Amino acid sequence: MGNASSIEPTKTIFLDIDGKKEKIMFSRHCGSRDIHDLIAHAAGVSRYAEISLKDSAGAFVSLNPTMPINTQSSPYKVTSKEPSPTTGDGEVFTQVLSQVASQFNNHFSKEGVFKVEEMKTDIATRLSALERKMELEGLKAVEIEKCKRDISDIKDQIWNAQKKFVDFNRLSNETHTDSSLSDERKISLKRDVPSYPKYTLSQETIEYLKQPTFDIWHWEPNEMLSLLEHMFHELGLVAEFNINPITLKRFFLCVQENYRNNPFHNFRHCFCVTQMMYGMIHLCHLWEVMTREDLGILMTACVCHDLDHPGYNNTYQINARTELAIRYNDISPLENHHCAVAFKILSNPECNIFANVDKDTFKRIRAGITMLILATDMARHGEIMDNFKMKLEPEFDYKNKDSLDTLKMVLIKCCDISNEVRPMEVSEPWVDCLLEEYFNQSDREKMEGLPVAPFMDRDKVTKPTAQIGFIKFVLIPMFETVAKLFPVIDSTMVEPLRIARDRYEDMKEKNSMPPPPSQSNKKKTVTEK
Ligand code: 5GP
Ligand code: MN
Repeated sequence: MGNASSIEPTKTIFLDIDGKKEKIMFSRHCGSRDIHDLIAHAAGVSRYAEISLKDSAGAFVSLNPTMPINTQSSPYKVTSKEPSPTTGDGEVFTQVLSQVASQFNNHFSKEGVFKVEEMKTDIATRLSALERKMELEGLKAVEIEKCKRDISDIKDQIWNAQKKFVDFNRLSNETHTDSSLSDERKISLKRDVPSYPKYTLSQETIEYLKQPTFDIWHWEPNEMLSLLEHMFHELGLVAEFNINPITLKRFFLCVQENYRNNPFHNFRHCFCVTQMMYGMIHLCHLWEVMTREDLGILMTACVCHDLDHPGYNNTYQINARTELAIRYNDISPLENHHCAVAFKILSNPECNIFANVDKDTFKRIRAGITMLILATDMARHGEIMDNFKMKLEPEFDYKNKDSLDTLKMVLIKCCDISNEVRPMEVSEPWVDCLLEEYFNQSDREKMEGLPVAPFMDRDKVTKPTAQIGFIKFVLIPMFETVAKLFPVIDSTMVEPLRIARDRYEDMKEKNSMPPPPSQSNKKKTVTEK
């Protein structure tokens, strides 16, 4: 079996460091960073050095606990590079700072000027802290990208802060703008393929990737890109659509660059949803009931389904009258936007994975992806589930286009909200991420005098209360319905949901129990008696 839990607890890897032979040993429980530091130590370089490994065939090998083992006679060649003290990225910061300054000058009213000066200093301090962090932590491309995104997020925060100075009475008669659009994020590639290393995936990872138990926290952004690429190759989608492999890499890079650094709706969420779809395709042998084209539509829709999510939901968009809500007339503004960004990316020939299909096929693919991304709006949950249940009676007809479309919609919906299907260690951190995003929204709504949903209110919701209702009334009924068509779903997905429900119910009970009386309280009670 390819499950990671079946391997031996320690691994030995042989290294060739400038002709010197070294050996490292580590347990499968350590992280990629630990292995990086171990190799840095063996190579006599700092932990901030950039390290890469190549096998005897010259392929890059990924630094993680499931990396393929090697032998003493075929060690991995280690190359390392210390970060240089000056980055050249200082320019980026200077540019951002001047943009920040002009934003303030353009947007603030006179009465806000004093506070603005304070905030300018605060932002400048935070940006230089980020700059120092970039210098100290080395210059890995991924980290630089992350810092740049942090800067972009700081810009969003500045925009939020601006609103504090705006007269709400005046605003209630006007429309709000949305940072996602005023920001003019470019849908173009900032990095190209050479900055995206090729990883050799171990056989164990390849098998493990097909399971809903896959640990999605284990992988750095570049590794997730390689795993996505692998899924598209393995499912035969590259062959089916005659995709240029470099275009596939560019497509994923561009997708990654167009997910924001939100607590929940980020690139890792996109990876999770896509990996769960990949898992369901394998568990349910979906290739037996639908075409490769359908599988390509399902997988691509998952990859694109939350593109450029601003971290505030449709209700916020509509109530705050954002540009997105106006553009899409309050009809699934976010999902329409995710979909529009997806096709904007595909309109770039360098990223168009469907460049080699004929016009009619492209039309079908476009209609299919659009239909699936729009189906992820939870406001349509009841409608889609009712429709699906009708298609199940008296018997599901895979030949009927309407039925198959509804099945595909239900499948993407399942994957989109499937965190609780995963093992507890994997799923639980996602609840914190979701609540962080919810609380961020409700705080903003309170500040702006907009309605606040109780399930987003930090004064009303807890981890178990957020999950119990969602698992009982949304997840279990939906996965049980899918299990009628694919019985394997019962043991692999519904059962873990039942376990998660029971665990959160226990957690809720423990939270509501009064704390045990302390020793001093007990004494007091006795004396009083
Ligand atoms: P998405 O925004 O990801 O496309 O749509 C899914 C929505 O379902 C999320 O925004 C969130 O409101 C909800 N959701 C997804 N997973 C969970 C979960 O584990 N718990 C709760 N309470 N809501 C979830
Ligand atoms: Mn989603």
